[in-house]
Amino acid sequence: MSVDLGSPRVISEEEKAVLLASPRGYCAGVDRAIATVEKALDLYGPPVYVRKEIVHNKHVVSDLRERGAVFVDELDEVPSGATVVFSAHGVAPAVYADAEARGLKTIDATCPLVTKVHHEAKRFAGQDYDILLIGHAGHEEVEGTMGEAPEHTHLVQGPDDVANVVVRDPSRVVWLSQTTLSVDETMETVAALRERFPELLDPPSDDICYATQNRQSAVKQIADGVDLVIVVGSGNSSNSVRLVEVARESGARDARRVDDASELQDAWFEGVDSVAVTSGASVPEDLVQGVLAALAERGYPAPNVVHSVSESLIFALPKELRRDLKSAGR
Ligand code: SF4
Repeated sequence: MSVDLGSPRVISEEEKAVLLASPRGYCAGVDRAIATVEKALDLYGPPVYVRKEIVHNKHVVSDLRERGAVFVDELDEVPSGATVVFSAHGVAPAVYADAEARGLKTIDATCPLVTKVHHEAKRFAGQDYDILLIGHAGHEEVEGTMGEAPEHTHLVQGPDDVANVVVRDPSRVVWLSQTTLSVDETMETVAALRERFPELLDPPSDDICYATQNRQSAVKQIADGVDLVIVVGSGNSSNSVRLVEVARESGARDARRVDDASELQDAWFEGVDSVAVTSGASVPEDLVQGVLAALAERGYPAPNVVHSVSESLIFALPKELRRDLKSAGR
């Protein structure tokens, strides 16, 4: 059953109900990154090395590992001459140089929307701006973006960091961001930055990607007044963790993240009539369906799907892989 957002959503106190967010799950960048590893395995045969998790989902990584992908943290774990795929989160230029020096064949599955932020960082560094990159320390995407212009980039993790930022010229500062942040929290950080640096330049277009924004909007539509929001996604998935925060901020009485249905806990459901379900951008739909099946076993009805926006974006496979597929007649 589908619910139009224009219709009022009425859940009586006693009635059990399940709302299912749409859009949820795979974004275009994740779809492309997973297809890249699958097609590389088909074309070149295993093993295909992948630097870092191709996307932040433990089920996806484990499935690909079973098919012959070998996940490594760094390139010194990859034998010379082997094929290595760079993950959707992107890599610093130093990593490309290292791969070349090691004689590795590379396939770059960086999401084009992350690459766009890399280009912005390069461009503003080239114009001698100080770049205030809003993001989380240690996240692979942040490491990759900072690597484009380390001398010009300052990481700002949130409003509390703003007082500590030191720039060379307060009239030449621009902010950029990680693609998977909370939209509202990022705007708070930008406001704090602008108070300190009134001439702060905005990025030419949104850095928080369409998929992150859409999944946050969708969860906002269903979270208000709901007893429990379940977000399917892995703990290292930034956009999944943000969905839990957004659900709580949007009025859900409780919000929990699970990798899959096996992590649901009985205690969460005590006195819970209304449940809303969504999933992060790196989450296969079968894991969501597993959660819905587990809800059904607990006596909850089939979900009402609440549509917010439609998505149709598709990214082409990396060009180096397309070229090899074409040469192989595939
Ligand atoms: Fe690309 Fe956004 Fe998906 Fe990340 S979440 S892979 S930036 S579309």
